[in-house]
Amino acid sequence: MLKWIDIVKYCNNGKPSPDQRIEKTEMEWKEILSPEQFQITRLKGTERANSSEMCSLFQPGIYQCVCCKSELFDAQEKFDSGSGWPSFTQPIKVNSVAYKKDVSYGMTRVEALCNSCDSHLGHVFPDGPEPSGLRYCMNALSLEKKENILETATFGGGCFWCTEAIFENLKGVQKVLSGYSGGELSNPTYREVCSGRTGHAEVIQISFDPSQISFEDLAIVHLSTHNPSLLNQQGADKGTQYRSIILYHNDVQLEKSKEVIFEFSKHLDKPIVTELKKFEVFYEAEAAHQNYFSSDPEKPYCQNVIAPKLARFKDILKDKLKPI
Ligand SMILES: [Zn+2]
Repeated sequence: MLKWIDIVKYCNNGKPSPDQRIEKTEMEWKEILSPEQFQITRLKGTERANSSEMCSLFQPGIYQCVCCKSELFDAQEKFDSGSGWPSFTQPIKVNSVAYKKDVSYGMTRVEALCNSCDSHLGHVFPDGPEPSGLRYCMNALSLEKKENILETATFGGGCFWCTEAIFENLKGVQKVLSGYSGGELSNPTYREVCSGRTGHAEVIQISFDPSQISFEDLAIVHLSTHNPSLLNQQGADKGTQYRSIILYHNDVQLEKSKEVIFEFSKHLDKPIVTELKKFEVFYEAEAAHQNYFSSDPEKPYCQNVIAPKLARFKDILKDKLKPI
């Protein structure tokens, strides 16, 4: 973690070495920036205090340089300084911001610049909150929130009513859909899948933000909330449609799944039978099967099967749950 003494050192002895350098001519910057962004970032301007909504936004995510898109700050380090400019206590990495002594306007201040493209961001002051004691006072026009690219995970572990409710409670999980995957029949109905003859498993399809929760974490939740050593069965539900399965979307997911299964197998006395299959297609279940638990937690099935699973899970993974 950077402290004021480190900032002073960088000012006197030179900046930390950056991960990448991006250099463009003034004309090239003008082409990709708005006149206001150009004025602030390339000509060292300062926006009016309270001129941006960014000051009051605290949702998770990453802030990047508006010029070169290098990552600069994590929203976790953002705080309400009351100054009227977005404020952070720490850059995302030690070398993402460069520092320069600024004696303009009769003041001695420390200028903060993007270490990749030298765009002017704002100033750093030694009056921020502990533990760093730093306040990165930034122009909102120099920053932009990085767009979250969502990833998809597809798991089967018994009746989807139970599994859907579990994942919907996780931070970073944006959407959970119930459906069918892993079989042959196109556009199967719930009844057809229940027959056990379509080859499909009841699965849930999860859209998640990998900057908030990893595929590995999701796979751990998946394996810890059903019984992966039971073949074609979960609780009283029997049939191949209830089999334990991970439908991987890429090679990274395949490798991570193998690692998680290997770790789990050390703690189980029976072998894990979870199938690993390349994802091909997901068929969304009929509307009546979506959000079964959250739409009516009083249904007897939910009370008997889903509620205990949720309770167990909440105990295991307290820090991964969405705030209530
Ligand atoms: Zn930059």
